[in-house]
Amino acid sequence: MAGVTLGGGLGWLMRRRGLTVDNLLSVDVVTADGRLLTASEHENPELFWGLRGGGGNFGIVTELELRLHPVDQVVAGLLIHPGDRLADVLAFYREFAATEPDSITSTVIFLTAPPMPELPESLHGAPAVAIGVCFSGPPEEADDALRPLREFGPPAADMIAPMPYLALQSMFDGMPAGDYGYHQSIRTGYLPELGDEAIATLTRHADAAVSPQCLIELIHLEGAIGHVAEGGTAFPSRDARFFCMFQSTWNDPGNAASHTGWTRDGWDAIRPFSDGRTHPGFLDADEPASRVADAYGEQKMARLAALKRELDPTNLFHLNKNIHPQTTTD
Ligand SMILES: Cc1cc2nc3c(=O)[nH]c(=O)nc-3n(C[C@H](O)[C@H](O)[C@H](O)COP(=O)(O)OP(=O)(O)OC[C@H]3O[C@@H](n4cnc5c(N)ncnc54)[C@H](O)[C@@H]3O)c2cc1C
Repeated sequence: MAGVTLGGGLGWLMRRRGLTVDNLLSVDVVTADGRLLTASEHENPELFWGLRGGGGNFGIVTELELRLHPVDQVVAGLLIHPGDRLADVLAFYREFAATEPDSITSTVIFLTAPPMPELPESLHGAPAVAIGVCFSGPPEEADDALRPLREFGPPAADMIAPMPYLALQSMFDGMPAGDYGYHQSIRTGYLPELGDEAIATLTRHADAAVSPQCLIELIHLEGAIGHVAEGGTAFPSRDARFFCMFQSTWNDPGNAASHTGWTRDGWDAIRPFSDGRTHPGFLDADEPASRVADAYGEQKMARLAALKRELDPTNLFHLNKNIHPQTTTD
């Protein structure tokens, strides 16, 4: 809970309820010099600003106080399309995102379809596009809100159904991306827009996938995330429309080069369409330290480094996405 919160916290309720940090009320932190501080809007507000996106850079968090929202049933799941429809799905998703109600959080994932009984056999082991959705508004509004998504295509499989929120949260458990024993390579960034050229770039890179364990994910942000001012917390790029992720996993070390190469090439190709920033929690171990500054952007990095100099001038807390106290941004 501490790791995900301090990074910002993207999840299935974010367009309706905001990021995890937008529901953070106060934090207890043990600082590098051994003090126990409480940070909130009213107490140590600059530290509170930095903790909401700045990761584990300022101290050891011993308590988080969060605003909770009762969530029982949601209407959620996946719509699956054949992989050769990726460009059409993305073009549709761009239009859908423009009017998507905040009660829906959604994502498009290019992947290889598992041999699930719900899918036509022709898709088993074949490239596919999944539209993942979580509708968390009043149940009687679900059909109308989800209709455009379900009617597009139509999909090869409609796996959207009412389910407990916890069932949705564990839906991807057991996939290689989240399982033990796999190596992983990941690159991420924010896309302010999704133009035709960006769609063509994503489609080309999907076609170049080196194994069934290559994923491309595009997550629509906005909604409640954008209700908080860009400068209101350390979390970067609240104004971006999409979060884009290339991810590959493998378990034979001999496959490392092809998979890391595919992931990096994907990011290099889409980088011109990004704003250069990303969610720092997603930075990969093999990315240069300078990507942390890129991830936050110049203004936020300067403010975070000033806070770091004040609270942790010797960089005691450095085994993280490190904000070095001596960072200069000019
Ligand atoms: C494949 C993949 C999928 C992801 N999916 C999501 C997602 O859906 N939503 C999302 O928001 N993020 C996601 N992330 C990024 C996510 O922000 C980090 O993975 C998350 O921070 C991990 O938290 P952790 O506690 O598991 O990891 P850790 O590595 O333990 O923690 C992450 C950071 O938080 C710090 N930290 C942890 N506990 C404390 C503490 N008590 N006090 C101070 N600092 C602490 C650590 O120092 C570290 O810098 C994903 C990342 C990957 C690679």
